[in-house]
Amino acid sequence: MKCSIQGCPGQYDPKLIVHTLQRGSKIFVFEHVPAEVCSVCGDTLLAPSTIKHLEKLLYTKSKPGKTAPVYEYA
Ligand SMILES: [Zn+2]
Repeated sequence: MKCSIQGCPGQYDPKLIVHTLQRGSKIFVFEHVPAEVCSVCGDTLLAPSTIKHLEKLLYTKSKPGKTAPVYEYA
């Protein structure tokens, strides 16, 4: 599929990415999320069913397989 960013000649390729979601002050990190990633600009698309699945993981409060430290840049 052609990239949706105007002027970008890239194509989306299916890849597994790290996706983050923020809810209030909490940040949730998901690994190995299936997404379409533009080969040129890196734009990512998640399928609606993928987003639903991520929300479901949050709302069912499944235990994360791993936890990660979060750093402030400044
Ligand atoms: Zn692109």
